[in-house]
Amino acid sequence: MAVLGPLSRISRLGCNLCRNHRLVLNRSSQKRGISSGIDPSYGLTDEQKEFQKVAFDFAANEMAPHMAEWDQKEIFPVETMRKAAQLGFGGIYVRPEVGGSGLSRLDTSIIFEALSTGCVSTTAYISIHNMCAWMIDTFGNDEQRKKFCPDLCSMEKFASYCLTEPGSGSDAASLLTSAQRKGDHYILNGSKAFISGGGDTDVYVVMCRTGSKGPKGISCLVVEKGTPGLSFGKKEKKVGWNSQPTRAVIFEDCAVPVTCRLGNEGQGFNIAMKGLNGGRINIASCSLGAAHASVLLARDHLLVRKQFGETLANNQFLQFKLAEMATKLVASRLLVREAATALQENRADAVSLCSMAKLFVTDECFNICNQALQMHGGYGYLKDYAVQQFVRDIRVHQILEGTNEVMRMIISRNLLTES
Ligand SMILES: Cc1cc2nc3c(=O)[nH]c(=O)nc-3n(C[C@H](O)[C@H](O)[C@H](O)COP(=O)(O)OP(=O)(O)OC[C@H]3O[C@@H](n4cnc5c(N)ncnc54)[C@H](O)[C@@H]3O)c2cc1C
Repeated sequence: MAVLGPLSRISRLGCNLCRNHRLVLNRSSQKRGISSGIDPSYGLTDEQKEFQKVAFDFAANEMAPHMAEWDQKEIFPVETMRKAAQLGFGGIYVRPEVGGSGLSRLDTSIIFEALSTGCVSTTAYISIHNMCAWMIDTFGNDEQRKKFCPDLCSMEKFASYCLTEPGSGSDAASLLTSAQRKGDHYILNGSKAFISGGGDTDVYVVMCRTGSKGPKGISCLVVEKGTPGLSFGKKEKKVGWNSQPTRAVIFEDCAVPVTCRLGNEGQGFNIAMKGLNGGRINIASCSLGAAHASVLLARDHLLVRKQFGETLANNQFLQFKLAEMATKLVASRLLVREAATALQENRADAVSLCSMAKLFVTDECFNICNQALQMHGGYGYLKDYAVQQFVRDIRVHQILEGTNEVMRMIISRNLLTES
């Protein structure tokens, strides 16, 4: 496995304990879990290993050195993301004829897992942007695809996904933003809450009501920044995910050409859910990267921190905890990769597996990162140590793109209705 970002970062920051400790940290960071069973490159094709290495290197060199600063100063790293796009990460599963990389869902997961070791928040935004680009590529007509996708794949332009509203979160199909047709335009009124990238992005993929109540009355429109009647709320202050802005997106008599509708009227909710199936794998993959990095950070800390006359690594309770973290990490990865394969193959179980992956992996990986923080003792609570940022950044993965309670609803509904 290539250099892991947070490890190079922690080596650079050093450790507050002592010089020897710092040196040992540097040395032990050379061991990256290759023989311990947690190496994410096992079982991959040579090609997958290649782009995984590219993503790990990008995470280590372009993201990890800035991860803490982006968090603390709330910087949206536009130029870094454009560099990522030059490597093909702006439209990973978008078709090549409109500028995408044309890779599979599994390939995408491998890339997001690796990138998130360098900065979860930035990678998670890139994953939402990829989801929007895929929605336009898949459900747009040729004109729409050619208009929007090349600039999104190069990240010349950035995209946001607009489903949630102040009054409709988990019950997304009850959304109220209205789009009334007047001639060759829709007139949008309403507001979207919690929109990732909102205000700083250029292209808004908006779910809105063109028909009756419920999911069948929803359509999907692409709204460009600068359209009269489109405005944004204040930037939200968040626990994590600070390298990407979150704002309300507001529509007041906002006229959008009918030619900007993706698919047919009434197809919008279906398009939104199809986007989210892949989005859930991507978010779970971002959690995997954070958990992998955190396991290695915890391992390195246990190997050097001494209490009661010996290193913490000699304590069996902590050894067992570390073993559980590593085991849950690998189980999580297997589930993500199975779900990605199911989605790629359009299998009947894909929706359930994507939900299972999101539920299991975001819960388990949060617990892994949190346990890694605990193993650092008080140091884990200091912002000099990367582990606290992984904990803060992945907490929200249990909430968005469908809460983990909603994932349970999807999984059980599919199970109960197939008999
Ligand atoms: C940082 C951040 C970024 C986001 N980015 C985006 C974005 O880019 N685009 C977008 O559209 N949305 C975005 N969201 C919104 C996110 O998807 C919603 O917050 C999420 O879907 C939950 O909706 P809610 O916050 O309204 O919670 P609610 O729906 O009010 O739920 C509150 C709690 O009740 C639980 N609950 C609700 N109904 C049930 C039930 N029937 N059974 C059991 N439990 C239930 C929920 O699981 C949750 O724990 C973002 C949110 C955050 C925090």
